[in-house]
Amino acid sequence: MQPAQLPHYEVFALRYATRDAQRRDHFIGGDPHDGPMPMDYYVWLAVGPSGAYVIDTGFTAEMAKERKRTFLRCPVDSLALLGVEAGAVRDVILTHMHYDHVGNFHKFPNARFHLQEREMAYATGKYMRYPRIGNSFHVEDVVGMVRLNFKGRVEMHAGEVEIAPGITLHPTYGHSDGLQSVREHTRRGWLVLASDASHYFWGVEQNKLFAIVFSVADMLAGYDKLKKLADGRVEMVVPGHDAEVCKRYPASKPGLEGICVRLD
Ligand SMILES: [Zn+2]
Repeated sequence: MQPAQLPHYEVFALRYATRDAQRRDHFIGGDPHDGPMPMDYYVWLAVGPSGAYVIDTGFTAEMAKERKRTFLRCPVDSLALLGVEAGAVRDVILTHMHYDHVGNFHKFPNARFHLQEREMAYATGKYMRYPRIGNSFHVEDVVGMVRLNFKGRVEMHAGEVEIAPGITLHPTYGHSDGLQSVREHTRRGWLVLASDASHYFWGVEQNKLFAIVFSVADMLAGYDKLKKLADGRVEMVVPGHDAEVCKRYPASKPGLEGICVRLD
């Protein structure tokens, strides 16, 4: 389909948790200009003519307590603020299986889950024995996704795929070995939800490396891919954890400042 014929999606970022952090926590090799750099946690929503697509499911209140994150509200409740009931959602896209992206999967009883096959192989594979890698996953989430697969509810993709006209998934490995980013056609052109292919704007804008990484080479190549997917417009790439997102984009409606911003 030619871009002119593609539908326009409305796209939202829902901020569900936050934590205080320092710049040195985030960069490989530390940072000479140390200072506060909070990390925000988001899920995303894309709404088009074929329905609502939930992108990632966040973590639970219990997990927030365990990992000492500040939980703002359950992503499922934030979706309800936008008129989306979790039970009615048919498609959930999981960018990857880290604990902060997959934790509430059980609250979507009628959804199928889109995942890269390579991410499932990674999350169930040999590297999980190393805490440096395995700690980003919660074993019960991984087991839960395996169970869902046995129920026929996981769509495992091998590479790039269009799941509906105007919404496509793209491998951007590096941070997690089977990570994917999500691209939507919007009234402003192609919008790219990087998820953790770029945690902060400084990733894709300055090629700086986030500290949690499986492959540095893939992470760098991922930055180039994100820009290419956005037709070279780096301002159309939305990072996965940057507190700046809520400053650069407007609230979806009055009263939802810092909770839900509209990206398209
Ligand atoms: Zn993350």
